[in-house]
Amino acid sequence: MHDLLVKAGTVVTASGPRKLNIVIDGGLITSLSTEDLCLDQFKNVIDAEGMIVVPGGVEPHAHIGGPRQPERSGAEPVSKAALFGGTTTVLDFATQIPGHDLYHALEEAEERWSGNAYTDYAYHPILTNGADENSISQIKDLTREGIASFKVFTTSIRPPSPQMQNNHTDFGRLSTIMDRVSESGSILLVHSEDDEMVHYNYDRLKDADEWDWWNMHRVHTNQSEDVSFRRVSRLAELKGCPIYFVHVSAKEGVEEVVRSRAAGLPIYGETLHNYACFTYEDYRSKDGMKYHTYPSLKSEHDRDSLWQGLMDGSLSTIATDLVSTTWEEKIKFRTVADVTGGHNGIETRMGVAYTEGVVKRGMSLQRFVDITSTNAAKIMGLYPRKGVIAPGSDADITIMDPTVDKDLSLSDLHLEDYSIWEGYRVKGWPKSVVHRGKIAILDGELLSTPSYGEFLPRCISGEIIEGPAC
Ligand SMILES: [Zn+2]
Repeated sequence: MHDLLVKAGTVVTASGPRKLNIVIDGGLITSLSTEDLCLDQFKNVIDAEGMIVVPGGVEPHAHIGGPRQPERSGAEPVSKAALFGGTTTVLDFATQIPGHDLYHALEEAEERWSGNAYTDYAYHPILTNGADENSISQIKDLTREGIASFKVFTTSIRPPSPQMQNNHTDFGRLSTIMDRVSESGSILLVHSEDDEMVHYNYDRLKDADEWDWWNMHRVHTNQSEDVSFRRVSRLAELKGCPIYFVHVSAKEGVEEVVRSRAAGLPIYGETLHNYACFTYEDYRSKDGMKYHTYPSLKSEHDRDSLWQGLMDGSLSTIATDLVSTTWEEKIKFRTVADVTGGHNGIETRMGVAYTEGVVKRGMSLQRFVDITSTNAAKIMGLYPRKGVIAPGSDADITIMDPTVDKDLSLSDLHLEDYSIWEGYRVKGWPKSVVHRGKIAILDGELLSTPSYGEFLPRCISGEIIEGPAC
């Protein structure tokens, strides 16, 4: 008797889409076959005929709230929404606080997640402003313990304020951090903007009395992304350090990722599904700060180049940069200096990527799977346990219904009291989700519990570290 059969769906495997049966036992995929199987041999069967069957989504970039950030949603509601959206793995951050080391940050992250996780999870430690030698040296130990990615910011993002910790890393320290990352076999995530340009732009707009939020793209500019990406990739080249640029927002960012990858450097670019669908013109609408995520939305021209990058393989992943707050919190602040960043779109990521990519732009199903699951799993050291439908892999499977054609309403979604995607027309949407062999969502009904999600230790493969592998 087998545990579960996902029957006769169009299954997107590493070699392309094909009508297959997926047999699942003990939480793992045990076989894929084209033959008719005797249904009596299975405890459970999901009929996936006519459905698109893909690996569970891997969200590489989410900021989950905890006791220090009570204005944000925590692991339980976020991971539940992720699951409804077809995502079975979420990577959060463990932010160092001044005066404490990275292990302390990880304890805080574990407290947030343990027992509250509908999805599997892991964290990227963030080195904060002025990180000391002791914390930087922990990169090596942590990598050995399965925490294999770290994050830095090359800007403090905003003028000094009590609401936001300064995580700016200077290039001197960055050079040492890259040494440690390179030696340890981990990967460095970089929020890359030119700090001096950003702060000059704040000063300039303040003097000109153009302080409203809709000027955000004039603070967090294309030029700042251009210069900072080049500086980071040059230092990474000198240090032999693999880099994952989070939230590429501008054409210039895409171009630098393309240039450095063509030179053989292990550099990877992520964009966000909100960046790929909105522009700074949307800031001008009523309460248009709801669209904001740092650095900023850019022009239509930039949006086109993000899609080009997602289609042609220059960009590797589509993420959310999740920070989930209530509507009240999201629209509370209204100037370029204090507007609330972040996007509660962890549930919409796969459905929007399918609609915009596969349906509107003719993206292959294979490529859709790459940008929503496989590449994040590879880059972050989870592959082939995650990110692929293959014998031996975790049975994390999302069944998408390609016949769904509707305007999204808040009643379709499960996180917070607003969404920038309300009224957005989706064509194709996740219907059922299998998570490590368990039916977690069946026809839109939640069957899982928040004690099911597990912490995932990670190890980055040599292929990812040596050159641009995906
Ligand atoms: Zn972020």
